[in-house]
Formats: sequence, structure tokens, C-alpha cells
Amino acid sequence: MVVFTSRFQPVEEPQSGLQDKHHFGKGDVMLIYGPNDYKYTVPLMAAVAAGGATSPANPNYTPRELVHQLKLTQAKVMIAHADNIDRALEAAQEVGLSKESIYVFGYKKLQGCLPFLALMGSRRAELVHLTPEESTTLPAYLCFSSGTTGPSKGVITTHANMNVNLLQYCASDGPFIDGKKDCTFATLPFFHVFALTNILHLAFYVGTPVYVMKRFHLENVCKLIESKKISFGYMVPPILLQIVKEPVAQKYDLSSIQWIQCAAAPLAPELLTALKIRLPTCAIKQAYGLTETSPVATSEIPNDTRPGSVGYLLPNMTAKLVNEDGKEVGYDERGEIWLKGPNVMKGYIRNPEATAAAIDKDGYFHTGDVGVVDKEERFYIVDRLKELIKYKGFQVPPAELEALLLKSPDVADAAVIGVYDPEQATEVPTAYIKVTPQVPQTKETSDRIKKFIADQVVPYKQLRGLVFLDVIPKSESGKILRRVLRDEANKAVKEK
Ligand code: AMP
Repeated sequence: MVVFTSRFQPVEEPQSGLQDKHHFGKGDVMLIYGPNDYKYTVPLMAAVAAGGATSPANPNYTPRELVHQLKLTQAKVMIAHADNIDRALEAAQEVGLSKESIYVFGYKKLQGCLPFLALMGSRRAELVHLTPEESTTLPAYLCFSSGTTGPSKGVITTHANMNVNLLQYCASDGPFIDGKKDCTFATLPFFHVFALTNILHLAFYVGTPVYVMKRFHLENVCKLIESKKISFGYMVPPILLQIVKEPVAQKYDLSSIQWIQCAAAPLAPELLTALKIRLPTCAIKQAYGLTETSPVATSEIPNDTRPGSVGYLLPNMTAKLVNEDGKEVGYDERGEIWLKGPNVMKGYIRNPEATAAAIDKDGYFHTGDVGVVDKEERFYIVDRLKELIKYKGFQVPPAELEALLLKSPDVADAAVIGVYDPEQATEVPTAYIKVTPQVPQTKETSDRIKKFIADQVVPYKQLRGLVFLDVIPKSESGKILRRVLRDEANKAVKEK
């Protein structure tokens, strides 16, 4: 008799899975530190089905950034990737997470860490049922957002938040999606709640196939749209700009797309006009939301769009627009958008002060965005009060960069703001620097400071601009006057 054996290294199968080996259950957190992958949904859903939470992290995070997320979430288990296992182990060591609690994507053991499939174990996992009370209090996802101020914070998206936001969102787009005929794609990163609730959950709910791409690559996206006849898609303005402008995108037939939802940042009117020429049969709709609202709060309907608008308030929500004097304003007047509804987060994890500052006693979440509502109840986003910078849809917290800059021996004082670059259809992080005495205001100094930051942050947080100032403008209480810097920067862009 011949007995064949596998040529592959044996995978050490644990006795049982996540639940038995790690006693993972209600309130526990699994951190996923990997790029988009169709298998991402396996650990993502496993943690949630076990009554716990998933905290997805940017796969390019530096160990310093990962440590911040590991500490705040107190993750019990981490799933890393061949691309970042070294950084994962470095961060894990700093927070005291043992190697036995770290798994990797793929089929091979890496640096002593088992593939996460080994966690499936020899018995079927038990689906944990939550009480209605638990579903509105326990986290399902812990994505990160800086909110209106300060460094990034873990947003508690409860099990109920994510389910309800899917249903709310379906009120606007559901009738335009046929689970049997339509298909979409995901280049938006799975570490953002939008991709979780509104692409993956939507796909599970309505049955649409999702073509998952590891990262955005213009030609591959266009090829995919043409070959798979993608019928609808979720994009951000810088991607749409490339579809309009880049010669490589013009080689492909994109006519299968019936509608595109643009969100995460403002869609400039010039870009919208150019898109209508490039994709004449496609509806371009906008939606608006925040990580803190799980995420969608307003949405246009594919057959009912208006240039500049982000659509109507989703069902079961109420909104107030509040002006600088704290007064609620009516139609056609500007005010900060305050939102209330079952999709508003529970709060920021281990940060009751930030939670109390964000959600008032009446349950309204203060967005830090300035909006207008017209008489047809359409919302428009017209300004941002909060510090946040959005680079190509990614959050860049100025407070984090300012704290790092102050550690540079070249820097005496610093402020960071976002400056809109029409060429890229995005804000770019720009630093205003007062140098320490004796340090010259030269290109070498500027490059050295930029590198100092680049060595410590994920690529999208890098400084794209740096301006020397003799004094950083501040209020009497010492708060950076970002508005002054922003007005100056915008004037300079216009004059260019
Ligand atoms: P995030 O939590 O990463 O989703 O970022 C939320 C922020 O993105 C909001 O507070 C807005 O400042 C911005 N944002 C989201 N959608 C839009 C939109 N359609 N138009 C303008 N800004 C948007």
C-alpha cells in the first residue's frame, strides 16, 4: 500500500477555534492588519459572530501607529499579513501581545505565526446571540477617527449601528440594486467603516458579487469594469479625477456602470461636469457621513441628483443646523450639522471626555461640518469647522502631526492644515513651521523636517507642503488659528 503525504509544511491545527483557544467572546476585540483581500471577511465576521468586535487597521501603519490602535482597543488577537508581519511583531511586543495571539493571512506559518485559517479549528464555532440591550452597547467594529479634534480615537460602532445603517442606506439605493444582476468592486480600504457596512454588508444582504482589489490601480480598475461589466461603484473624488483625466482610463469601455456613489470628500462642480462627459449614461450621486454615523447620514437617490448636494437625510434620523451663536437655523442658512439617530456611534472607546464633547445630552452628534439644507430638504456640505484633513478620502489628524513635529530639533512651533489642491482633487497636509533659533529656513531644513515625519507615519499622512513662518497665529488662549492659515493658503492657491 502506498500512503501519499502532503508536500506542504504541516499547519499546526489548534484543538478548536477562536472561541476555545482564545476564549474570544462578548466585548473582545480582534485587530485585522491586512490589505483588502476577499478572505478578509472570514476573520471580520468571525469576531462579530462570536459576539466580539473587529478593529481594522491600515495595513501600512508604522509600528507607532499600530501600537496606538492596539492599546486603545486592547485587542486580544491580531491578524497580520506577509507584507507587514515585521511591523506587527514589533508593535505586539511593545503592548505585550504574545506571538500565539498573532495570525497571518495566507497558508504559510510566518515568523512563528500561524495562518488564521488554523483558527477555524476542528469544531464549528457557536454563533453568539446578543440581547437587544447588548446589540446597542457592545462594539461590532472599532474603526478610527480623529473626530473634531485631537489624535485618532476608536469609534464604537455597535452591532445595532451597523445593521441599522445598512437598512437606512438601502432606503435610498436599495431599489437600484438587483442582487442577481448587479456587481460592484471594492478598492476602498476595508479599514474604513464605509467599506465594511456599505460594501461588504450590503453585498451579503442583497447578494451582489464584489470584486475585491488589494489596492487602487487605475488601469486594473478600468479593466475590471470593462471585463466584468461592473454596474455600480463607490469612489472618492481623486479616483474620479483620474478616470476623467488619465489617458490610460480612456482606453476602456466603462459604459456598464449605471451609477457611482461619491463620498468622503467634496466633489468639485468642474469634476462633476467632466464626469458627465466621460460617462454620459451614468448617474453620479453623492452621500455624506462619518465613521461616527456608521457611516452614511445623507444620500442622494441615483435617479434624483442635484450638483453639489449630498442628498437627503436617511430614515430614522433627525438633524439640526446650528449657527455660530448656538441658534438652530432653517432652510438655506449655514450651520454646523448635528445628527441624531440609531446609527450614531456609542462613543469613543476608553475616552468618555471626547464622547461627551461629541454627543450632547439630547443625543445629537456634533459633526464639525457646516451645511445648508434647501427647501427640498437636500443637504449641502459647505465648510468644515473641525481640524480634520482629508487626503484622498483618508483622515489625517493635524494634532498627531503637530505633536510629532514638536519632537523635531528643527521645530520650535508648528501647525498643520489641509490645503485644497485642484490638480489632485484633494486636500494636502501642509505644515507651518517656526524653526528653532539658528536653524536656517532653507530647502534642506524643509526636506529634513518632512523626512522626520515621513519616517514615522503611513504614506498618506506625509507632509506635502511646508511653509516657514516667524510666528504661528494663535488665539489668546493659545489655540492655533487654523482659519487664518487656511484663508492665506486658499488665497495663494487661487493666485497661482
Ligand atoms: P470619515 O469619518 O473618515 O468618514 O470622515 C468624515 C468626514 O469626511 C466628514 O466629517 C466630512 O468632513 C467629510 N465628508 C464625508 N463625506 C463627504 C461629502 N460627500 N462631501 C464633503 N465632505 C464629506
